[in-house]
Amino acid sequence: MVRPRLRRRVHGEFGATYFKPAGIPVRELETVSLTFDELEAVRLTDLEQLYQADAAAQMNVSRQTLGNIVKSAHKKIAEALIKGMAIKIEGGTVEYMQNLYYCPACESTFPAEANEESCPDCKSDKIEPAELPGSKKGCPRR
Ligand SMILES: [Zn+2]
Repeated sequence: MVRPRLRRRVHGEFGATYFKPAGIPVRELETVSLTFDELEAVRLTDLEQLYQADAAAQMNVSRQTLGNIVKSAHKKIAEALIKGMAIKIEGGTVEYMQNLYYCPACESTFPAEANEESCPDCKSDKIEPAELPGSKKGCPRR
């Protein structure tokens, strides 16, 4: 039997889930996928400047796992910056500490309040609660 991966806690609210170099049409771009747990690890260690042990505790993972997540995230971000690729943030084995919504119109996933009515990217009003692998409904905000 395969041991299920532990869910990684994500507290951060992220300003955007898609980044692209200016002046290049999306269809000509290669895209790097960054997961929410990778972005959270970067937020905690690079932005909040926590020690890896503290960041690991916040994300409910071991220190070694945290180190691997950070390393993977840095490599992807570096590749995107240097090669001029787009970055899409999506998925991951995570437990969100906030509500996350999904917009079928532009396929973006974004954190939002429960009363959010439209997509911040394309203004579509057909958004729905995101159901990603590992997410669970009704988890309390912290
Ligand atoms: Zn949208």
